[in-house]
Amino acid sequence: MTSALYLEDPRLLDFEAKVLATHRTKQGTEIVLDRSAFYPEGGGQPADHGDIDGIPVVHVRSDGGSIFHRVEGEVPGALEDAVVRCRIDASRRRDYQQQHTGQHLLSGAFMQVGPYPTVSVHQGSDYTTIEIEASTIPELDLDRVERLTNEAIEADLPVAAHWATEETIDRYPLRRPPKVRDSIRVVQIGDFDCVACGGVHLSRTAEVRMVRLLDVESIRGNTRTSWKIGDRAFAHYRETSTVVKQLGGALSAKTHELAERVGMQEERIRSAELEIRRLSERLHELVAERLLHEAERRSRSGRNHAVITAHLAEEPKDLLRGVTERLVEVPGLAVCLVNRTGDRLQWSIGAGPGAPLEFESVRGELLPIIDARGGGRRPIWQGVGTRVEQAPAFLERFRELVAAARREDD
Ligand SMILES: [Zn+2]
Repeated sequence: MTSALYLEDPRLLDFEAKVLATHRTKQGTEIVLDRSAFYPEGGGQPADHGDIDGIPVVHVRSDGGSIFHRVEGEVPGALEDAVVRCRIDASRRRDYQQQHTGQHLLSGAFMQVGPYPTVSVHQGSDYTTIEIEASTIPELDLDRVERLTNEAIEADLPVAAHWATEETIDRYPLRRPPKVRDSIRVVQIGDFDCVACGGVHLSRTAEVRMVRLLDVESIRGNTRTSWKIGDRAFAHYRETSTVVKQLGGALSAKTHELAERVGMQEERIRSAELEIRRLSERLHELVAERLLHEAERRSRSGRNHAVITAHLAEEPKDLLRGVTERLVEVPGLAVCLVNRTGDRLQWSIGAGPGAPLEFESVRGELLPIIDARGGGRRPIWQGVGTRVEQAPAFLERFRELVAAARREDD
């Protein structure tokens, strides 16, 4: 059995104790002491950290009246029966005392405003969540809960713990019925809140400093509220005001203008995107027209205009597809375009209605020329190759294959 010192004195952070036992577990070694101020995980509050004779304590749990301190690293064999010096990580303890005491105040305030009963709490390493039994909570009520709690903090109310039994428990105005029957520990914060709890709290509410609502979400028909409490609320204020300042600088706007300014920016981006799409389509049309025009000129000089090939460079990524889409509308036309961007060669092949081109039967001969991958289905196939210097050979072979297919058709 371990005497739980944290229940009587939440300020005790440095103490001596006798080692009752040590044993190995899967995760490390656990040390049992005759007395301990280390808070074991429970009631939504994480365990204290610290050290025992310089050996870091990384987790603490309570089981059957004993407190098990899990330590990292090697534990000297002769530790049993030894008297050890134990120290608790003060800033971690203070943080969770703030979280825990702040949570009591918030749960109390929720009852005064609603009543909105607390279903469960979780003290995370970043923020504390309180799940409330209500499908929705009006924003006005959330504001009142936050304000009431900050007023209780400012009033610097005393936080006291009392022991009660089943007979004496009715003397206390408990926020909810206790979970244990005898030796009930009651935590009373002035006349603001009263609840049965075995956790470690602060001694006065002013030490909580501040609470700030972070987020509200629906979960299992309840409402989960997330809070920044204590020093975390101040750190959060510092972070967010820095971000707001940076945004204000970037957008040349005052804080109250930011939301409207961002809305305006979004509107400008939306219309710019529309304009880009319109211009791209126009560009694809013009390039397709130019290629057709050149092909017609060549056909007058005796060459077949039913094949179009083109070697482009550093064009936008969607240009090949856009141009090919327009060219495959021309009956009988076979198209092969490449676009070199850096050390990659984008390729696109298209077949207009009735064009004598079966891609699957020529891919084995064509794609290796530029070491390409890709595919598609009639009327457009596309992909990327790596042998950019082979682009002319690739296009030339395409023309030959189409010409051969055409002779077969004839
Ligand atoms: Zn508590």
